[in-house]
Amino acid sequence: MPQEAQDTGTARIAIVEDEADMARVLEFNLKQRGHDAVILETCSAALNAIPTAPPDLVLLDVRLPDGSGLDVLQQLRGDKRTADVPVIIVSAMGDEETVVDGLNRGADDYVTKPFRVHELMARVSAALRRRTGVAVEAASLVCGDISLVPDRREVVAGGSDVSLTRSEFDLLAHFVANPDRVFTRQQLCHQALGAGNAVQERTIDAHIRTIRKKLGEPGKRLATVWGIGYKLVESPADSTAE
Ligand code: CA
Repeated sequence: MPQEAQDTGTARIAIVEDEADMARVLEFNLKQRGHDAVILETCSAALNAIPTAPPDLVLLDVRLPDGSGLDVLQQLRGDKRTADVPVIIVSAMGDEETVVDGLNRGADDYVTKPFRVHELMARVSAALRRRTGVAVEAASLVCGDISLVPDRREVVAGGSDVSLTRSEFDLLAHFVANPDRVFTRQQLCHQALGAGNAVQERTIDAHIRTIRKKLGEPGKRLATVWGIGYKLVESPADSTAE
């Protein structure tokens, strides 16, 4: 296991990208932050290199010369050597269908081109932190003015105690453990509620509405990402950018 990622901040990152300029920008910025980066220009190069020496994270373009990055993603998720490697899709294809498809096939996050480099690097850091699993197991989960104690099912938002049902609590805990990460309704059913197909996706919408109402002002950070799903905005200042 790549413990170095947690201890030293150095991670091995695979950049799957066929545009040389874009690949170099990513490589430069990752190396500047102390990471090791390798550039893979095609689907076949990615599928040869990544499973044999799994990196700590993959940045994945969608339109590649010999196929779709989404198919690469699917193969990586189906291979037990790479099933858990964080993957961030970096693509000019910002259309909802591609993004939802990518998230449902197991991408951890996505960034659309053109992007701000510091934002992408922040997402890289967040994905590497999540890989350690520290936040999820912590005694309490905190995101800004929302905090939860999972063992006691306690929620405090904006300084006030909030009473949530079991499903509402599980959903909110999932968002607080993964701030600024977008989840599709399907992902929320499976990952947060463990409900599989028993829960209809519109049930998620109803839960979100109730959670927002119960949280009051802090609930406004639970943002709708149109056509995709929901995310918890970490910093209230960012909420206007959506
Ligand atoms: Ca491309």
